[in-house]
Amino acid sequence: MPEKPDRNAIEVVNVSKIFGSGEGQVAALDTVSVSIRENEFFTLLGPSGCGKTTLLRLIAGFDFPTAGEILLYGEDIAPLPPFKRPVNTVFQSYALFPHMTVADNIGFGLEMLGKPKAEIKARVAEMLKLVKMEALAGRRTSQISGGQQQRVALARALAPQPKVLLLDEPLSALDYKLRKEMQIELKRLQHETGITFIFVTHDQEEALTMSDRIAVMSSGKILQVGSPRDIYDRPAERFVADFIGESNFLKADVVGVSSGRATVKLSSGTEIPASLPDGFSPSGKVTIVVRPEHAQLGAASGSASLSGTVENIVYLGTDTHFHLRLAGGEPFIVRRQNSRGAGDGIVQGGQIGIMIGSDAAQVLKD
Ligand code: ATP
Repeated sequence: MPEKPDRNAIEVVNVSKIFGSGEGQVAALDTVSVSIRENEFFTLLGPSGCGKTTLLRLIAGFDFPTAGEILLYGEDIAPLPPFKRPVNTVFQSYALFPHMTVADNIGFGLEMLGKPKAEIKARVAEMLKLVKMEALAGRRTSQISGGQQQRVALARALAPQPKVLLLDEPLSALDYKLRKEMQIELKRLQHETGITFIFVTHDQEEALTMSDRIAVMSSGKILQVGSPRDIYDRPAERFVADFIGESNFLKADVVGVSSGRATVKLSSGTEIPASLPDGFSPSGKVTIVVRPEHAQLGAASGSASLSGTVENIVYLGTDTHFHLRLAGGEPFIVRRQNSRGAGDGIVQGGQIGIMIGSDAAQVLKD
């Protein structure tokens, strides 16, 4: 894949958004700063109410920040009304005109901009091809499926060639299979058009599947920004580790820190290396996270980092989950990929050793 350019399309600088006043005041966004690069598939990920839609609406110009500014290619866009911003939005509800044809829906924005007829025709044809809807160009949008409506909504939003496309949970109305297909399709559309996509979702798997980078949000703040791999392998905070994927949290004592890594002592007395969040230098008691697939099972001998009892074994076809109870009473899950016909002799109720590899543990900031 070609390198993405390192130029910022959008810069959100110390933006806050307060709704209401007095007792009923809500800080939907609390001093948020983030830069989104040109030609990037960028995702705002977080639970309901964390402020994702509010941030998207401020970028679109449907609402104004209480404080801070939003720059588009270095220019403050506060004075620009929504229709003058080179930004378009795809809503969850699609907002198509049901009595109009697919082609007319796609061309609608261009008509409003007063583009010449020939240009509209050519652009609509190009968009129909891009979203693979040529065969249904003359069909009314009330007579096509949900997935097809989604494609038309995308084509309509892309037709005026916005610099930035905002997508607010656009796949949430689709069934699971179609949603999976559209995730790949959206990634392709972003790649082919080179337009910067800012995508909002509360679905971590969706965010991991599609994004170049993800911003994880909670309670009006951005907690961490990084590639899907960074966010999954190197979560900086407990909320991030918990929200994305499964996690084992362990209490540990920091016994040393050097060149961005720590040595921590587990409750068993074993010392293991652990990665640190950028710029974080802990001391004393910390929480570390170990992903279930980053720990191995073995004999409960001196070489194991921890030991525990096997409480449950869940076979899931591609992999098996071992639910363990550590000697100190904490739960611990190990996930192991299955290979054909392999029997491993691990039984429910048995004692087992857990090995935590040199790159498996991550210290959390909280
Ligand atoms: P969801 O995934 O449910 O859409 P979200 O992460 O997009 O959630 P927002 O819609 O941005 O969250 O809302 C953030 C917070 O601001 C919530 O507490 C919400 O109730 C509040 N809020 C949003 N819009 C308004 C408004 N117009 N007036 C008052 N409060 C609002």
